[in-house]
Amino acid sequence: MENIIYLDNAASTSVDPRVVEAMLPYFSQYYGNPSAIHPMGRLADEALETAREQVARLINCQPEEIIFTSGGTESDNLAITGVASACRGNHIITSEIEHHAVLEACHALVKKGFEITYLPVDRSGQVSAQDLQAAITPQTALVSIMAANNVIGTLQPIAEIGAICRKRGVFFHTDAVQMAGHLSVDVKRDNIDLLSLSGHKFNGPKGVGILFARSEIPLSPLILGGGQEAGLRSGTENVPGIAGLGVASEIAMAEMESEAKRLCKLRDDLINRILADIPGTCLNGHPGKRLPNNVNISFEGIEGEYFTKELSKQGICVSTGSACSSESHEAPYVLLAIGRERELANCSIRLSLGKMTTAEDVNKTVAAICSVAAKIRKQTRVW
Ligand code: PLP
Repeated sequence: MENIIYLDNAASTSVDPRVVEAMLPYFSQYYGNPSAIHPMGRLADEALETAREQVARLINCQPEEIIFTSGGTESDNLAITGVASACRGNHIITSEIEHHAVLEACHALVKKGFEITYLPVDRSGQVSAQDLQAAITPQTALVSIMAANNVIGTLQPIAEIGAICRKRGVFFHTDAVQMAGHLSVDVKRDNIDLLSLSGHKFNGPKGVGILFARSEIPLSPLILGGGQEAGLRSGTENVPGIAGLGVASEIAMAEMESEAKRLCKLRDDLINRILADIPGTCLNGHPGKRLPNNVNISFEGIEGEYFTKELSKQGICVSTGSACSSESHEAPYVLLAIGRERELANCSIRLSLGKMTTAEDVNKTVAAICSVAAKIRKQTRVW
């Protein structure tokens, strides 16, 4: 893997060695069940509580407002289905560009009599606060708008959305899976009632995440059993994973600012050079209000899936969009939602930078993209 340039960090990141070190003792040294009252159980439980405090600091909430889950998908499902089951009202507002974890959870509620409003986004991928205001009805139980999009990196005006929801007495959930650990998230400042995040998107382990639910929020559990996580998520906790998530949160807090600055520079360099060097290219997503690590560009006449495979042959790992949908050949709905024509939407790739990305990687990537794009266009003669 030495010659690989990995630019798919929005799909998953490498686990920080400090995180691995923090997890190791909980596999075969302190392996007790955290619900047990003997010393081995207590040691495991202490790890959970330490991690709860670490994650709480990352998003500025109380530790007891954190529910550990198996990751972003479960957190999104718990937020939407859990609030829908526990609250009055049968209307949910979300956006057209949410992750499938939100869209499918909303979709499933239609069969239970819920009405879902999908807010459109503008050409940069942002929802409008006015549209949201207008969509709220006395039946609205929940608004779920992501903090940052996984395909095009656009940041949503979550502070503005939070203020509207709080004023109108509607609960606000945000999927912060792509933003948490990369940019500052503050649930108190932004009036967020529920928030999802996932360990493997910010150099923590896979299969672990949290749902933050403000203490006053009524929530029904999805998973029933032994009553762990205050009865909101039964099942023996993933202690090594949770310990790792805690340390990843602590590292992110300490390093986020400088890392975001570094990545923004690399990101903008990558965007500007590709747009300048290759004709028939355009940036997808907001030019400024975007994740520090996200580059998404359409290349006229170059099918994204084919481009991705050709770049893989050069050792460069990129993707066509969200990891979950890349094998399904479905229309890239996020790009269609921002107004890209279907053909151009299918000619897009996402490059997502990470902790390991260097200026040298950017140089090599620009060179490879230029040569592979020219080769494909020559072969296909369509451009
Ligand atoms: N939400 C967003 C915005 C994501 O990008 C992802 C994963 O790509 C998820 C939710 C799902 O997270 P997980 O992989 O932890 O289930």
